[in-house]
Amino acid sequence: MIKVERVDCPNLLKWNEIPQKEGEIETRDSILFFNDISNHNSKYQKMGIRGARIKESYSAYSDKTVRKVLKEMFNGKCAYCESKISAIYNGDIEHFRPKGGYNDMSGQPLINPGYYWLASEWENLLFACPFCNQTNTQEIFDGINTREVVQGKLNQFPLLTNTYRLNYNDGNNYINDKSEYEKAFNLEESERLLLKPCTDIDVEKHFKYDDLGLIYKNAGLNSLEENRAETSIKVYALQRLGLIQTRKEKVIQIKAQIRRVEQALLNYNKYLDKSEEENIWFEGILRDEMKILKAFKNSDQEYAGLARYIIEKYFNAFII
Ligand SMILES: [Zn+2]
Repeated sequence: MIKVERVDCPNLLKWNEIPQKEGEIETRDSILFFNDISNHNSKYQKMGIRGARIKESYSAYSDKTVRKVLKEMFNGKCAYCESKISAIYNGDIEHFRPKGGYNDMSGQPLINPGYYWLASEWENLLFACPFCNQTNTQEIFDGINTREVVQGKLNQFPLLTNTYRLNYNDGNNYINDKSEYEKAFNLEESERLLLKPCTDIDVEKHFKYDDLGLIYKNAGLNSLEENRAETSIKVYALQRLGLIQTRKEKVIQIKAQIRRVEQALLNYNKYLDKSEEENIWFEGILRDEMKILKAFKNSDQEYAGLARYIIEKYFNAFII
């Protein structure tokens, strides 16, 4: 998982436009709907044009224009596991805070309503793969044993305690009392246990990787950070076997490139006192091999978080 810069909000989800955009209309409508407590266990459904039919609940967020922006923003990669999605799958538009209902842990009863007022909130949307974002029976590997476990985020949104958990009333504050809402939102944020790539600037420091492709909480974290790293690994199923195997292949590629850099450096030093022509030749090779190594760290590359960790660890070994 790496930090991803959020780009500007797509037009459809903008607020205070004239005429009102789809996202704002839908949000205001859903807030009215959930103001009625008798609707709390019902699914919000948007009335169709002229009430002719009931359309599927929330649709603004899944518009193709929103999907396109999200896909580009995440370079076609899953926000959580960094696998390239687009070759095999359309990609899920993920609600970080679940819109329908939520639970602290998979298997626990769903609490309704969820964060319905954030269904069309740009900041709440991510691009994700079905293995991280949905719930599946997955093969989870701990380095020794493989277990079949139901994992994947789906409706999970665990907090350290439920003291500051936002509730349906906060939907009203979201539109009527921004400062009150932000105060409540920030309190909840302080106890959030899932790492979020667009918000947490230090998301990468939470993880370390080994040569087998396994991911772990990093050293040097405080207890809340440790909890966040461990909860995120579990909830996003980041220790699933298929993902570990693909990360391991990436480690092999990176390590092979590190060897090429080392060899190029050896050659460069060996011919340093030879002709200028040889000097330039071996310097060029060294520069090219370094460029290839650095490219693994680019945000558009699969498993850039892992690449950054391994490459930085390698170079840090030279710094005394
Ligand atoms: Zn994923």
